[in-house]
Amino acid sequence: MIFGAAAIEAARAPVQAQERPRRVSSTPESQAYRPITESEVSAQLRQEKYERIFLHTNADTAHVLFEIPGGRENFFNISLKDVDKFCDSRETKVTELLEVHTHPLGNYAFFFKELGYDDNEVQSFVKGEKPWPPAPPSWADLWLLSGHQQYYADRKISVSGQVFEPSGSWFYKVNPESPLMKDLTELAEVYQQKLARELSPLELEIIRSELSQPDKDPRGFSASLKQAGPEQDPDGARRNLSDKLAKIEDELMKTPRFRTAVENSRAIEAAGQKVLTAPVAGRTEAVSEYLDLCAKNGIQMTRSPR
Ligand SMILES: [Zn+2]
Repeated sequence: MIFGAAAIEAARAPVQAQERPRRVSSTPESQAYRPITESEVSAQLRQEKYERIFLHTNADTAHVLFEIPGGRENFFNISLKDVDKFCDSRETKVTELLEVHTHPLGNYAFFFKELGYDDNEVQSFVKGEKPWPPAPPSWADLWLLSGHQQYYADRKISVSGQVFEPSGSWFYKVNPESPLMKDLTELAEVYQQKLARELSPLELEIIRSELSQPDKDPRGFSASLKQAGPEQDPDGARRNLSDKLAKIEDELMKTPRFRTAVENSRAIEAAGQKVLTAPVAGRTEAVSEYLDLCAKNGIQMTRSPR
């Protein structure tokens, strides 16, 4: 089922970026963009609970980021419509766009518990007694950026990404022409076609409605279908759908280059998780393994520790 999540994520990322509703409503147009400096963003990382999104273009003063209103909760909520609007509002033609988001402490504390840190350890990170584990871009971050890079390529806008987190920042850019991204993009297309062909309108509707919830993390999607109890799934439609998705995915994995691409994307995700969970003494090594793996797969990634 892990592949199911990965494939659904792969299949939907560019679409979802446009269609996903946002939880926080936009502020009035006149005060839509609030300029903020990198150091202000960094200073807030220890207090905040939700991810925030900022944009910066070649048309803006150096080091000033603009907050996208309504972009909170999770980077997945970024809407291409908002990004378009921001680019159009700049006085100079935009040719370079930087999409920034935060991995704040509050958003990760629960995650660290899940990863096996006990309460005392989490508290010692929060209080700053122990250095906070680096929180690199997730695989979903990279995949989303790749979709945005492809979307803006037609408009001759070069897009890159940056994550600010308590231990430092990560700058990244994906090569959409790398074998990994090309194969995953094709896999996503084939997967979508198969879903349209093999699922009933009701099943497609379940997928659409599940994935349109703003705080739904697509990585847990297939698993959540399978876990639905009799109350949420009286006629067994969700469990049935979960089995069907697994079959479709097994079929796709018979194509060796698709399998390799999925394995490589999982390896990148796992290497990122290892950075988070490595003991303090092993962090430097975990970071360089993650950076090496990114480089091998056509992902330009640099880290600036604080
Ligand atoms: Zn992220």
